[in-house]
Amino acid sequence: VLTCRGLRKEFGGHVVLDGLDLTVAEHQVVALIGASGSGKSTLLRCVNLLEELDDGTIELDGEEISDPRVDPDRVRRRIGMVFQSYNLFPHLTVLQNVTLAPRRVHRRARADAEAQARDLLDRVGLGAKADAYPDRLSGGQQQRVAIVRALANQPRLMLLDEVTSALDPELVGEVLAMIRDLKADGMTMVLATHEMGFAREVADQVCFLDSGRVVEAGPPGQVLGEPTQPRTRQFLRRII
Ligand code: ATP
Ligand code: MG
Repeated sequence: VLTCRGLRKEFGGHVVLDGLDLTVAEHQVVALIGASGSGKSTLLRCVNLLEELDDGTIELDGEEISDPRVDPDRVRRRIGMVFQSYNLFPHLTVLQNVTLAPRRVHRRARADAEAQARDLLDRVGLGAKADAYPDRLSGGQQQRVAIVRALANQPRLMLLDEVTSALDPELVGEVLAMIRDLKADGMTMVLATHEMGFAREVADQVCFLDSGRVVEAGPPGQVLGEPTQPRTRQFLRRII
């Protein structure tokens, strides 16, 4: 589904992605781990064309989306991205938040978009909140709505950046459960996380980033359990 080759990104002379390669197969869940500042968020933002690359190519379903002639909005319609801060529109209800993009960007009819949104909300136990405003919801509920909003575009690929980091510990579980369900449904996902337990459980592949490169990648049991690279060992020792 996704192939990144030799990605390079600098911010004012500071190299953040340094020849990074990443391949994500269909239905695969890839967890990006690594110290703060290692480039996880920058990588996800590059894939969603929110950052311009200094070098390298990104292919989505065989199309080179990093080509400057490609319309970013068209690409973003195929990618769902969810951030640590859920970024729901406060003046819109849950249902309006979820149906905004399908109606505006995909030009779906209102009744059609709403029916689909209610169905998605029901499935994650938020059907009763459809007409509530975001400030009436818990952090975990807001984050689940943000994920539903991304799903409403029927993306090929979901990018999740620390989607549980802003949540109180007791609310983390409900968001993780939702991601587990998405995986069971076969959604292809790339997620940046500081939670090794979650990476171990949900990821098919764990990629350890250090200084803008993938230093080690493989099944969670290997990367987290028997890392071969000294950098990976050092990182895991520090956080456990
Ligand atoms: P964290 O685990 O803290 O989320 P991260 O791995 O996601 O970290 P990034 O957010 O990708 O790291 O940041 C990598 C580096 O790029 C950092 O040094 C950061 O300061 C820098 N950086 C990111 N965005 C910008 C920007 N818009 N302008 C300048 N520097 C930036
Ligand atoms: Mg980050």
